[in-house]
Amino acid sequence: MRTKRKQPLKIKAEILRCLFEHAEQEAPRECCGLLIGSAENRVVHEMRPSTNRWQQSPESRSTFLSSEARNRFMMAPQDVIFLARSLMTSRPVLGVYHSHIDLPAIFSAIDRKEALFGGQPLYPVSHLILEVRRGRAVAARLFEFQDGIGDFHCTALFGAVSPGPEQREEWPSSC
Ligand SMILES: [Zn+2]
Repeated sequence: MRTKRKQPLKIKAEILRCLFEHAEQEAPRECCGLLIGSAENRVVHEMRPSTNRWQQSPESRSTFLSSEARNRFMMAPQDVIFLARSLMTSRPVLGVYHSHIDLPAIFSAIDRKEALFGGQPLYPVSHLILEVRRGRAVAARLFEFQDGIGDFHCTALFGAVSPGPEQREEWPSSC
């Protein structure tokens, strides 16, 4: 699947605040979820938190180890299905988000491996990585796949959201 270069997603301050809260609630595990919005203007209207399946404890008879949740994520199957189905609707998933715990918000080798299939993106979505330091979400970086380089690159940086009017829109700055 070939992808054109896209405009960075625009995320309202209230949604960005909820994303940061989700990342802090889940720390020291990575959080994950979906960003839903308008494909036309690339504005995110809604977040859909998912469950990081790596966080399930051995007692739940999961084959996944809870210790892995600190440095990787795997979305719950129903959210992966939601993502795939949404792509054919007027409110598609525009992005997948997850957090990095006490590590920079850069696209890691694991992130790349999970997001690509045969060298192309598994889904035509952006990736938002939230950086959590000592339990506090401090910033987020948005990554898009670029055909020319065959890799993801950072297209926008969101700082921590200061308290303010809920309707204020948070436009990203460049990386
Ligand atoms: Zn990651």
